[in-house]
Amino acid sequence: MRSHRKFCWGFLVLSGLISGGVLSAQAPASGMQLRTAMPSVILVPAEAQPSPNFNAEAATNAYLAEIPAEARARSDAYFEGGYWMILWDFVYAAIVLLLLLNLGWSAAMRDLAERVTRFKPVHSLVYWAQYLLLTSVLVFPLTVYEDYFREHKYGLATQTFGPWMVDQLKGLAVNLVLGAILAIVLFGIVRRLQRTWWIWGAVVSLCFLILVVLIAPVYLVPIFNKVTRLDDPKVTQPILRLAHANGIPAQDVFEIDASRQTTRMSANVSGFGKTMRITLNDNLLRRGSPEEIQAVMGHEMGHYVLHHIYKDILFFGVVIVITFALLQWSLTWCLQRWGEKWRIRGIGDTAVLPLVVLLGSVFAFVATPILNTQTRISEGEADMYGLNASRQPDGFAQAAIHLAEYRKMNPGPVEEFIFFDHPSGRNRIYAAMRWKAENLALVEWQAGQRAAAISPGKDKDKDKGAMADRKADLP
Ligand SMILES: [Zn+2]
Repeated sequence: MRSHRKFCWGFLVLSGLISGGVLSAQAPASGMQLRTAMPSVILVPAEAQPSPNFNAEAATNAYLAEIPAEARARSDAYFEGGYWMILWDFVYAAIVLLLLLNLGWSAAMRDLAERVTRFKPVHSLVYWAQYLLLTSVLVFPLTVYEDYFREHKYGLATQTFGPWMVDQLKGLAVNLVLGAILAIVLFGIVRRLQRTWWIWGAVVSLCFLILVVLIAPVYLVPIFNKVTRLDDPKVTQPILRLAHANGIPAQDVFEIDASRQTTRMSANVSGFGKTMRITLNDNLLRRGSPEEIQAVMGHEMGHYVLHHIYKDILFFGVVIVITFALLQWSLTWCLQRWGEKWRIRGIGDTAVLPLVVLLGSVFAFVATPILNTQTRISEGEADMYGLNASRQPDGFAQAAIHLAEYRKMNPGPVEEFIFFDHPSGRNRIYAAMRWKAENLALVEWQAGQRAAAISPGKDKDKDKGAMADRKADLP
């Protein structure tokens, strides 16, 4: 339901490369048990049961009241702390990058790369390797706090330090390879096309993004987690039926062992073209009710049917072009002022990389609300699609409450606009209850069917009752 972007988005691999070498595309790492007393079975509260005076607002409030006060305080603190982390990540990275420039370390790494060989693409490779290692070491105190200690503090992490560190090293290796390819190609372009490099650089970066999205489910995700085909028909059949009814030619549903790193429940749509697939994480499978799983799958299918991956690539294409145009202008401006002091010869000099990353982080920091809003709108669309497709408003509300383990439920409107990349939990539950209010006849009929299935002896009577109700409700 969340994190399909966090997981599969090549752009995040890209921005991970750019933000000093921390692979942010990796699943949020890391505590064995949830200390938070979030109920694992979420019941439909009395106010949310179908009745002639069903009220969406009252039903929403009743669902929210199921979250214990202590659990809510904890997830609010976790999520609000995340706002500050955006700032500290930015400030810390800026300090590291400015040190690299002002202490002449970047120029020294360039000089070393040039002593190794005269072959220019190798300069980019050797510089990138030094840059990535140095920045990863300098940023490590913040990484270990944010991804390890903080995650454990809030009971969201499952890894001990050793395996967590192994995942970090794997991420570093992925960054080393992907980043090297991108650095070699981009610096090659800048050196050859001094006036139009920013246009071709944007085109190449977009192609690279598409490539990473394409290979991620098959080649990148398995580096960190085991992905298997689900073969329990009790789970897969309703999902595949839902998929086929929505025109999705899926034959398989995949499961990922996300519990290796985290207690978070999620699912995602990842990939591109032939590698596009729907994956459930094992936390969702273990803790989610069947209705909840159906609702989450409906949401993921919404991403699929509404072509969100393609639309996001288009959106990021525009973002990339604007970023390169801004880079071209701001790099020239900065190099005129400080180029000599930093011993950077020009935009084609690999020593310019910390400046590129610094300017890129300023743009990304300023654009945070825009990027979040774009994602939040798609997620809202997938919510509406999922409600219509799965017809499980209560499953949907249950999922929203489970997600409250790491998300603030009830933010103010400005807070939601700036920081939320999904609609807030309250808005999601309200959307589900509004849907329920407008479909009460259907919901009552479903309830009748379920009751009949549970007690087959009373089958006929229940059916009659349900049909009678239906006739009464549908004019
Ligand atoms: Zn989603």
